Amino acid sequence: MTGKAYIQIAPYLQGALGRAVIERFWSKVDIRSKDECWDWKASLDTSGYGRFKLNPYVTGRAHRVALTIFGGDVGHGLDALHSCDRPKCCNPHHLRWGTVMDNVRDKIERGRVRSADMSGTKNPRAMLDEDELRFIIDCFRKGWTNKRIAEFVPVGHSLISRIRVGIAWAKETQALGWEPKPQFERRRAA
Ligand SMILES: [Zn+2]
Repeated sequence: MTGKAYIQIAPYLQGALGRAVIERFWSKVDIRSKDECWDWKASLDTSGYGRFKLNPYVTGRAHRVALTIFGGDVGHGLDALHSCDRPKCCNPHHLRWGTVMDNVRDKIERGRVRSADMSGTKNPRAMLDEDELRFIIDCFRKGWTNKRIAEFVPVGHSLISRIRVGIAWAKETQALGWEPKPQFERRRAA
């Protein structure tokens, strides 16, 4: 879990020192043709993203570094999204800056999101991943209705309603910063 507090990468890439950092960075990438994936050759984090030391004390995610080198620092605060769906890929042509919402939409388009049919009453915990929960919380804050949110995630609006009021997925959404509104306390206790 990373939250949205990404480190700013661009300052580490400036000047002569920065040029050395960039050179060191590309030496760890399996550079291929424009259409192929460029895999990170060094260590990965628990989510499968490449880890790159910008200096001895600061580690960044490799794909974010790649996109920052390629496209500047426009993505500060945004996610670096993969069109190829491979976290360790550092091919800038496969990357773009986007929001959590873009990320979920991408996943839906790629059909990676599990179908709502698999659902679940049997195993409701298996239905949403962290990106989807983050997206749902983002929508709550934007004032979206449960029905509208349900169009974008593989669960029904009734489950989203229960997430909103803190009955379902309470621990996970709380970890992501969601706090149900006080007027729902009564329902939650019921
Ligand atoms: Zn790729």
